[in-house]
Amino acid sequence: MKVAVIGAGAIGANIAYRLAERGAEVVLIDGRAPGSGTSGASFSWLSSFPQLSWPEAEARRRLRRSVKAHFDRLAEEIGGDWLDWCGTLTTQGAVPEFDDAVARCREQGAQIEILGAADLRDVAPELALPDAERVAFELRSGWIDAPAMIGQLLRVFRLSGGSLRLGHDVVALAIGGPGAATVGLADGSRIEADLVVNAGGAQATHIAAMAGLAIPVALVPGVMLYGGGGRTGLPRHVVNGARWLIRPDRAFGTAVHWRGAGLTARHGNNGHDGTAMLADVAQSVPALAGVSPAAHRVGIRAMPQGGPVIGRLPWLPRYYSAVSHGGIGWGPVWAEIAAAEILDGTSEAALDTMRPARFYFEAAPDKEV
Ligand SMILES: Cc1cc2nc3c(=O)[nH]c(=O)nc-3n(C[C@H](O)[C@H](O)[C@H](O)COP(=O)(O)OP(=O)(O)OC[C@H]3O[C@@H](n4cnc5c(N)ncnc54)[C@H](O)[C@@H]3O)c2cc1C
Repeated sequence: MKVAVIGAGAIGANIAYRLAERGAEVVLIDGRAPGSGTSGASFSWLSSFPQLSWPEAEARRRLRRSVKAHFDRLAEEIGGDWLDWCGTLTTQGAVPEFDDAVARCREQGAQIEILGAADLRDVAPELALPDAERVAFELRSGWIDAPAMIGQLLRVFRLSGGSLRLGHDVVALAIGGPGAATVGLADGSRIEADLVVNAGGAQATHIAAMAGLAIPVALVPGVMLYGGGGRTGLPRHVVNGARWLIRPDRAFGTAVHWRGAGLTARHGNNGHDGTAMLADVAQSVPALAGVSPAAHRVGIRAMPQGGPVIGRLPWLPRYYSAVSHGGIGWGPVWAEIAAAEILDGTSEAALDTMRPARFYFEAAPDKEV
C-alpha cells in the first residue's frame, strides 16, 4: 500500500515512521522543515498528574494510561536522545481540588509523592516556593525534545524505505474517486497514493477542505519563552505552577510555557513582554532573575471541536484524519492505531467518539430546506 502523509510534525512523523516500519510505501510531505510547526513551539510535557484526574470516558483514559509505555517502546526502537524522564513538580496552586486530583490519579496508577517545604528543598533546591505550598512529585514523567524526536523518527523512517518531500505545500487533493488518490503540490508536481493522511496540525482544516471536508478546529495560541542558558541553578525537573510551566531545554537552558493573563489578545510575539513574564517566573526560580528571553515563540494549538479527529470517513476510505491537541504525547499512540487501522483493517473502539464522521448529520426529511 502507498500512503501519502501530509505534515511532518509530531503526529505525521510518528505515523509515517510506523507505517514504513510496518512495510507500507510512505511519502511524507511538508511545505516547511520537519518539526517547524506547532511541534517546534511546544512545551512537550509528558505526565499523568493531573491529566488522569480529568473527567473523560474510560476508553480514552485507558489510552492515556498507555502513553508512557508507548514512549518507552518508541525510544527503544528508534534510539536517539530526545526523551527526558526528569520528573514533574506540580504546585498545589496549579491544580484545582489538588488533593482530590492526587487521589484520582493514584487510583489510575500514577505514582505521586506529596512534598512539604523541607522535602522540596532536598529534591529541587533551585526552586523558591512559599513554605506553605505543597507540591506533588511525579517521578515518572518528563518532557520530549520534539524536534529531536522528529529528526530521529525521520532518520529511521528513511532507513525503512520512506521518502520525504519537503519545501512545497500541498495545494490540491483528489481522493474521492475509485482510482488512486492524488496529492497536488505547489510546484505543480503530483503524488499518487492509495491513501492520504491529513496530519497538517493548525492547517488541517484547510487540507480537509481540499478534500471537500469540514473539520472544525479551534486555533489557540500558546507562548513559549526560552532563556537562562549558562546559568547555574536552573530547574532540572518540569515545574508546573499556576501561571507557568517550566522545563529544562537543551538549547536555551530553560523553557517556559507562560499561561498567565494576557495570552490571547494578540497572536504574534509583539503583544507579550517576555522579560516581564520571566521576571514573574524568577520569583520561584531565582537563577532566572534578570534574564531576558533568548527566544520567544508562539505556537498555535490545533484543538478540534470535541477532541481528537482520528480515522477515516465511511464514504471517503482513501482519507485518514490525524488531528489532535496534545499531539506530542499522543503521537505514538495515534501512530500505532492508525497503522493497524490502515494496514490491518482493524477499528479501535476507543476512538469511536473521535471519528471525523461526527461532524456530519443526515438532514431529517421533514426539516430539509
Ligand atoms: C505552547 C504550547 C504548549 C504545548 N504543550 C504541550 C504539551 O506539554 N504536551 C503535548 O503533548 N502537547 C503540547 N502542545 C500541543 C502540541 O505541541 C501539538 O498538539 C503538536 O505539536 C501538534 O503536532 P502536529 O504534528 O499535529 O502539528 P505540527 O507540528 O504543526 O505539524 C504540522 C505540519 O504540517 C505542515 N503542513 C501544514 N499544512 C501543509 C500543507 N498544505 N502542505 C504541506 N505541509 C503542510 C506544517 O508545515 C507542519 O510542519 C503544546 C502546544 C503549544 C503551542
